[in-house]
Amino acid sequence: MSSRVEAVVTQRCPSCRDGRIFDGFVRMNPLCPTCGIRFEREQGYFLGAMYFSYGMGVVAIGAPITWMIIRRADPVLVASVAFALLLVLSPAIFRYSRTLWLHFDNHFDPLDGSGGDGADPATMS
Ligand SMILES: [Zn+2]
Repeated sequence: MSSRVEAVVTQRCPSCRDGRIFDGFVRMNPLCPTCGIRFEREQGYFLGAMYFSYGMGVVAIGAPITWMIIRRADPVLVASVAFALLLVLSPAIFRYSRTLWLHFDNHFDPLDGSGGDGADPATMS
């Protein structure tokens, strides 16, 4: 089992730290391919990922833009750089915000059946 930091960087399951969270560029696996936990616990579960998305956006896009504004760069150049950064970084911000949210939530409410709700509702009686 890898460390928590390694699992976040490589976007692995927060429970077993082995199964891939994403199956495609932005498509998630509904269940962990290794341990079978359900990643989206309930409808709207990933709203919590917006906190991480916002923070990463402020740092990754806001910091360079602020630096350019302080340096009195051309406003058209500043807007162009902001748009380009947004386009380039959006997929990574999306993936890492969900990964961080899963690991953050799993730290306080584990998905391994010891209190978390990783069970499939269709099989619950
Ligand atoms: Zn897993």
